[in-house]
Amino acid sequence: MVPECPKCGLVFGRLPGHWLGSWFLNICVVQLVVVLILIIGVAATWPEPPMWIIGGATAVSALVVPFLFFPYSRTLWTAIDLAMRPLDYDEGVAPGFVLDNDRAQLESERKAQPEE
Ligand SMILES: [Zn+2]
Repeated sequence: MVPECPKCGLVFGRLPGHWLGSWFLNICVVQLVVVLILIIGVAATWPEPPMWIIGGATAVSALVVPFLFFPYSRTLWTAIDLAMRPLDYDEGVAPGFVLDNDRAQLESERKAQPEE
């Protein structure tokens, strides 16, 4: 993962320990997948569930799913973090097209008001 957005310059790791939240999301998803495989596997094959196959499938999913979900967990965590702690002006993010609209509005407001 690149350290910052190539388009707007948002630094993804905004604080030390920032990625702990993405680890937490990843662990939650892995445990959800493992439990779902267990429940569906046992329910679908009841009353004689093949526990070695179901256990193997849960073990394989516990090893594979963290790597598959890793980029999504970081993206999701970045979105959650931005929702919880909105960007500040001094974070160096170029707002892009929003800036042009805001600048035009700001200049029109400045023309309307005399300087103090
Ligand atoms: Zn960006």
